[in-house]
Amino acid sequence: MIEFQQVTKRYGSDHTALKQVNFHLDRGELAFLTGHSGAGKSTLLKLIMLMERPSAGNVVVGGQVLNNMPRRQVPYIRRHIGVVFQNHQLLFDRTVFDNVALPLEVMGVPARDVGRRVRAALDKVGLLSKEKMNPMQLSGGEQQRVGIARAVVNKPPLLLADEPTGNLDPKLSADIMHLFEQFSQVGVTVLIASHDISLIHDMGRRTLTLEQGRLTGGMNHGL
Ligand code: ADP
Ligand code: ADP
Repeated sequence: MIEFQQVTKRYGSDHTALKQVNFHLDRGELAFLTGHSGAGKSTLLKLIMLMERPSAGNVVVGGQVLNNMPRRQVPYIRRHIGVVFQNHQLLFDRTVFDNVALPLEVMGVPARDVGRRVRAALDKVGLLSKEKMNPMQLSGGEQQRVGIARAVVNKPPLLLADEPTGNLDPKLSADIMHLFEQFSQVGVTVLIASHDISLIHDMGRRTLTLEQGRLTGGMNHGL
């Protein structure tokens, strides 16, 4: 589902954020991405999301080499990738329902299908009863679940999460991780960037470790 082949990313002429990174993730695999601040985690996620292009090497997602993807195709590729952020980036002037419906509206999904799909996504994260609420009325853990519902409403084969439990206590973090596991069990590939060493340890999953732009752990599993 994701393959990095000797991927190097430089910013400007003197700063190398990723150095010859090699790994692949299979369909339905759930893995963590960890490393100190500045190690290159966000850069790696941005390469998958086509927010950055590699300086050398290949990034392959769903069998497509992304390196030379024409700019007009980028929005089409991104539709296949769900993204969950730490601060969940919800719109507080809209209901929970409307937040989750947003990606479908952008894609022009017919209104008659939107309700069914939004409710299916809210059901998966256990928030069906809160669709009419404003996200401001929800707890931190519930807000993050709305962010996850929005990320999966389009049924993407790939789910990326950048510090999704950064603001949550251990119990809520574990609940969120359980949700990600459920998605991977139905074939979604999940990559979670996290600093939370104890949470990662408890999950017992493959962990890609970056140190100053080099992958030092997790790269060979599953080959
Ligand atoms: P992490 O997410 O692990 O904290 P990043 O991928 O954000 O790491 O950053 C890796 C390195 O690349 C850091 O040294 C950072 O300062 C640098 N960097 C990230 N984005 C840019 C950018 N747009 N321009 C220049 N340097 C950048
Ligand atoms: P947490 O401990 O997870 O942060 P909270 O104590 O913030 O949870 O919230 C617990 C419950 O109370 C949640 O179901 C949430 O929807 C509800 N709630 C929290 N704040 C408000 C509010 N300002 N108005 C209405 N309901 C709220």
